Amino acid sequence: PYEVLVIGGGPAGAAAAIYTARKGFRTGIAAERFGGQVQDTMGIENFISVPYTEGPKLAGALEQHVKEYDIDSMNLLRAEKLIPAKQLGGMHEVVFANGASLKARSVILTTGARWRNLGVPGEAEYRNKGVAYCPHCDGPLFKGKRVAVIGGGNSGVEAAIDLANIVGHVTLIEFDSKLRADQVLQDKLRSMKNVDIIASAQTTEVEGDGERVNALVYKNRETGEEHKIELEGIFVQIGLVPNTEFLKESGLEMTRFGEIVVDAHNATNLPGVFAAGDATTVPYKQIIIAMGEGSKAALSAFDYLIRNEAV
Ligand code: FAD
Repeated sequence: PYEVLVIGGGPAGAAAAIYTARKGFRTGIAAERFGGQVQDTMGIENFISVPYTEGPKLAGALEQHVKEYDIDSMNLLRAEKLIPAKQLGGMHEVVFANGASLKARSVILTTGARWRNLGVPGEAEYRNKGVAYCPHCDGPLFKGKRVAVIGGGNSGVEAAIDLANIVGHVTLIEFDSKLRADQVLQDKLRSMKNVDIIASAQTTEVEGDGERVNALVYKNRETGEEHKIELEGIFVQIGLVPNTEFLKESGLEMTRFGEIVVDAHNATNLPGVFAAGDATTVPYKQIIIAMGEGSKAALSAFDYLIRNEAV
């Protein structure tokens, strides 16, 4: 058994494992895919002190840093169930898809999240070639260009406001007949001169020249007519889904969106179970934030382990 078992091998998990190993705790880290979302990222320009890097390179560096320590690193292992300790100081158990199970006095959950996809032709083909999911990350790459934001909820409208300050023109596309974002955000967006809003619009295709995106096709859901918008970028903002489905039966407190509820110390409602990164209620989902949160969760696990005797 471990003293600390980290589930998830993205920036949050790697940071958590390194921090607890540095405290001398017997640490294991199990991940379905080491590197997490970072593996799917091309240019990264907001990892402070590193002006430019690329996802696979940073993911490799995360793995390398973990290997510097005496950490049991287990890749391609998908957790399917968390069985919390029955008493304070007891052993938690995590059951994996391959039938294995691991026990630890403290568990740090860092299973991240995934952006909901449109699921239309061209989206996957032009991912990172004009199709983007993170305005904080990729907005500046479209300086002066034409982009669309798909999704009229709070995140879509916030993204459109953010991008309108950077890019040349923004078209916001909403499936429903009206935007769902808070009124104050809608008012702000409507006050911006380089923004068009199109409601009742179903995106049907992402088009490109083989290299990069050059247009978006949508259907007017009232008339059935198809329209094409020429542009250079498409930001998909139809939801970020936490990878927490496997925790539903564990008694862990989660929001209705599936985010693990954590306090300022990254503690969950279950003693000895901590969580960090995109899978949690922490606002703003970013690499540098996930690393900071993972480190905090690890220090909280340390605090828990020295205060609670093993039983
Ligand atoms: P993740 O990176 O999602 O890692 C989760 C880990 O948990 C993975 O190892 C995964 O395999 C594992 N896992 C999931 N479920 C299970 C399970 N059941 N059992 C075991 N393991 C599991 N942020 C920036 O700061 N700058 C950028 O430029 C940037 N660009 C981005 C571009 C794209 C295309 C995307 C998708 C995201 C981008 N982000 C960027 C966001 C950033 O990648 C995330 O905020 C960050 O990776 C979150 O880290 P995390 O460790 O919480 O989760």
